[in-house]
Amino acid sequence: MYKFDKLTVCLDMYGCANRCRHCRLGFSPKKDMNETVLVTVAKKFGPFTRKLEICDWYREPDYNKGYKWLWQLTTALSDNKKVHSQQVNCWRAVRDEEYIPWLKSLGLKTGLITLYGNSMTTDYYIGRKGAYSDTLRTMDFLIKNGIAPCLQIYVNKDSIRELADIAELLKENNYEYRCQRFGGRFSVYIKQGVCDGENVKLYDLRLTSDDVDRIPEYLINETKRYMRAKNTEEIFGKTGGELFRELTADKSTENLAEKSPVFYVDNNLDVFPSISAPTPSWHLGNLKYSDINDIVKNYTENRTKAQRVRLNTPISEIVGAVGNPNCDRLFKREDYIIYMLNKYCKETNG
Ligand code: SF4
Repeated sequence: MYKFDKLTVCLDMYGCANRCRHCRLGFSPKKDMNETVLVTVAKKFGPFTRKLEICDWYREPDYNKGYKWLWQLTTALSDNKKVHSQQVNCWRAVRDEEYIPWLKSLGLKTGLITLYGNSMTTDYYIGRKGAYSDTLRTMDFLIKNGIAPCLQIYVNKDSIRELADIAELLKENNYEYRCQRFGGRFSVYIKQGVCDGENVKLYDLRLTSDDVDRIPEYLINETKRYMRAKNTEEIFGKTGGELFRELTADKSTENLAEKSPVFYVDNNLDVFPSISAPTPSWHLGNLKYSDINDIVKNYTENRTKAQRVRLNTPISEIVGAVGNPNCDRLFKREDYIIYMLNKYCKETNG
């Protein structure tokens, strides 16, 4: 039997409060799963690794009101001591006064939260009125509890002009100093979403090279520090046209099966690798209808359509078939390859 070095299985048990326009996972109808499924999943995947980790979410953490009990259950079902993700659920943080102290009790030192611009833009991109104010209040709660906020700011063409206001807001609220007082370090960085899931629809709003010069220096410097990037190309990547030219000269293929993968299980019990959004091209099987050995083999032997294409088709051919040599949008190389791979799987019979 195949043994993974480590296997993490994440279930989408309760969905998420938001409808982010950049969501790399895409949306799915909300449907609650029964907790007993966690035990079933642990039993099914357990024999394939000595280090199994089970999570009750892969969208927003701790969305269900039974989050503490779910943490205990998933910890008991996991082989290793679980460490809570840095992601903080802002929706819960402002509705449940026990939440942030609970994160603190688990040893969380840094809490990851997200903005998209000012109030209207953030609410629009998160798809929920009040999301901006929830985020700012969560930053205060985190600091009050000795957890340093790490703020990621997603940026598109339509929000770039608001970055100056955010930089100002960060200075006015003195987050750096307030974190230093308890020995923490406030971090902030800018990023573009990957071109996957819902975010593919925002292709036209992706940054072009001239946009990068409009980003406030403070945010560029903080992003470089956080990402250990030497320049803005390491933060935002190259244009699609440049990547098209590089990759159409590259005959390499890639085995996407890893020794320590993460699997997503959606609320219909369909299983997918975490490489991309859960879509038919990445479908490994269904826990109700498929044999678990086949699900694992579909992954390890690269049998999903997307894995098969990437293993057998040179990247030059994939990009040559569906890429745009005149694309002026910026992409990180790995994100561009997954974007091209998904496009190729959708548009060709490859
Ligand atoms: S990006 Fe995260 S918070 Fe937003 S809709 Fe997707 S899963 Fe939910």
